[in-house]
Amino acid sequence: MTESAGTQREMSDPEVSDTIFAPATAAGRAAIAVLRLSGPESRHAVSVLTGSVPPPRFARRTRFVDPATGEWLDDGLVLWFPGPNSATGEDVAEFHLHGSRAVLAAVMRVLGGLGLRLAEPGEFTRRAFLNGKLDLLQAEAIADLAAAETEAQHRQALRQLGGELGDLYRGWSGRLTHILAHLEAAIDFPDEDLPSEIETRIAVETAMLGTEIGCHLADGHRGERLRDGIMVAILGPPNAGKSSLLNRIARREAAITSPVAGTTRDIVEVSIDLAGYPVVLADTAGLRASDDLIEREGLRRALQRAEEAEIRLFAFDARHPAEARGACAWPGPDTLLVANKIDLVSSRGLPSSALPISALTGEGIEALLSALAERVAQNYRIEAPLLTRARHRQSLEEAATSLRRSVDALPPELRAEDLRLALRSLGRITGAVDVEDLLDVIFRDFCIGK
Ligand code: GDP
Repeated sequence: MTESAGTQREMSDPEVSDTIFAPATAAGRAAIAVLRLSGPESRHAVSVLTGSVPPPRFARRTRFVDPATGEWLDDGLVLWFPGPNSATGEDVAEFHLHGSRAVLAAVMRVLGGLGLRLAEPGEFTRRAFLNGKLDLLQAEAIADLAAAETEAQHRQALRQLGGELGDLYRGWSGRLTHILAHLEAAIDFPDEDLPSEIETRIAVETAMLGTEIGCHLADGHRGERLRDGIMVAILGPPNAGKSSLLNRIARREAAITSPVAGTTRDIVEVSIDLAGYPVVLADTAGLRASDDLIEREGLRRALQRAEEAEIRLFAFDARHPAEARGACAWPGPDTLLVANKIDLVSSRGLPSSALPISALTGEGIEALLSALAERVAQNYRIEAPLLTRARHRQSLEEAATSLRRSVDALPPELRAEDLRLALRSLGRITGAVDVEDLLDVIFRDFCIGK
């Protein structure tokens, strides 16, 4: 089965015959603005605006002129990338103009007059996908790369763009195709039962593949968390200084990306860049038994957040070391014990695992952040590429279910049918099969010009 990012698609989509353009750089004043064109009319547009078509892939200094009026629009560079060896697979051109709204508007008006149209969000990448330049995972990686705010997100998006995830999934599809071919050949065996050794081998290989996919799925959602932010919850008894600690960290960290009030009244979230990892730090209501209805609801939410969080900071008042026992509800290395208000007492008598800090004076905060960063880094020190989106997870779960059903099914025809279903689910992830219904959803999140 040929599942390379290459040849899987015909240019059947009628939109693909239009020629599109869009600024590839952000709007507003800048030294340079890049305008990108893709489609069959690109060549004509280059020729009439700049007088001739430059040699492929060479930047040429040129004057941009309105062919209708002869009006001089700008001085800049033009590049010509004839298809299929271009980013989208179509004829592509780039105009490097001066980055002012007036220059861009004038050149875009002329392009519109020539019958070209402004691109939809993500349309360049969509065309690249339709022309087999990228698989769907790589197209999604481009969106992630554009949205990456921290080093870890940047790295993860690059790995996906480099094709690691696609190779993993295509490898599984290849093995599955092989198993299916064997099963189908065996089914065609004339009027006999399947030779038992073939049957056993098929069952073993199917089960092994199912197990591998299962392991990939059981990753604690780490890839998705790296995209969305790793959740860290600050817990502890009331007045331990949880809010003060959150404020202290939020002020310390240079790279606060977005302080957001939580959806619930009592959980406040702050996004920070912690040593390259995107972390969403949440302050929760104090853990205390209460008859008050609102306080009980706050407690319920705090506990829920504690469960959902990947790492917990359990803060207690250093003057009351017994409070540290509350952390026992979340044993393990992902709960860090934090003894706050160390400015008021000596650290003697504190549990040895507790990190002494003062949210008031700032003492110990750097050490706490280092310990937290170290914990996060340990959890994400992984060699295998991570699953990054719920869309992929869903298809992989479907594939794993089909594989399990196939192993359990008795008639070989049913077993083969389940293998085909699993193959289809895997193919949907990279875009090798039947994904028309997905494209609008996937490319909707892109910006214009991507
Ligand atoms: P929370 O209920 O756990 O969120 O606790 P708060 O952050 O509201 O703090 C409770 C009280 O302890 C406030 O009066 C804070 O000013 C005080 N506090 C917090 N951290 C420290 C600290 O490190 N040292 C001292 N001396 N007081 C603190």
